[in-house]
Amino acid sequence: MGLVHSIETFSTLDGPGIRTVVFLQGCPLRCQYCQNPDTWSMANSSAKEYTAAELMKIIRRGIPYFRASGGGVTVSGGEPLLQADFVQELFTTCQSEHVSTAIDSSLYIATSQLQKVLPVTDLFLADIKHIDPEKSRELTGVTNQMNMNNLRLISDHHISIWIRYVIVPGLTDNPQDVTSMAQLVKTLNTVERIDLLPYHALGAHKWDLLGLDYKLHETQPPSSQQMTELAQLVHSITNKPVYWQ
Ligand code: SF4
Repeated sequence: MGLVHSIETFSTLDGPGIRTVVFLQGCPLRCQYCQNPDTWSMANSSAKEYTAAELMKIIRRGIPYFRASGGGVTVSGGEPLLQADFVQELFTTCQSEHVSTAIDSSLYIATSQLQKVLPVTDLFLADIKHIDPEKSRELTGVTNQMNMNNLRLISDHHISIWIRYVIVPGLTDNPQDVTSMAQLVKTLNTVERIDLLPYHALGAHKWDLLGLDYKLHETQPPSSQQMTELAQLVHSITNKPVYWQ
């Protein structure tokens, strides 16, 4: 069984084409900008258990749209690899029915768990939270060594990667840090694109509802000019397509 926070159909934000996105419950990180703190706890009473067969019934409804658009299924979270056995089972069925598979993950997970899904995953949407280990700890509560090792493992397995990096003024937008991030990405073999995501405070009300202390109330989103400049910087180092919304 998989513990599911929510399911979104007809998404165009989480990988190529039109996708069904399954948000799995549970996350070991505590990112200061998290938009979905209600996904953190595995004990969330509004999460629902599904078998892989039950989810496939929902996923199959999207197959004509996946085929027409180059889409498929994305598992996100939370951290979907906390439920790696379930993702492996679900994706094995997806691939047997020619449904493309993607995982949106921070990669803060034991490598043994990641290895379970490598053979059945077509694309990783890999979130680099911070390139600096100590700043990563400040931003997310955990350091980044495991994430970085896992990112290289995915590249070594020749699986496509889209990098995601949230630009948070004062936390992740230092040009030297962005340069270091881009230099690391440049060493990977299978990165197809890089998405720079401007910080916004749309999830802040959820923190308030859960009685959590949202530390970024005073933080403003980055300007369009700053996003453009950082995108140009990353592209100049990686020579990869860089997108920002
Ligand atoms: S990894 Fe994602 S779900 Fe987990 S705390 Fe960070 S932003 Fe939130």
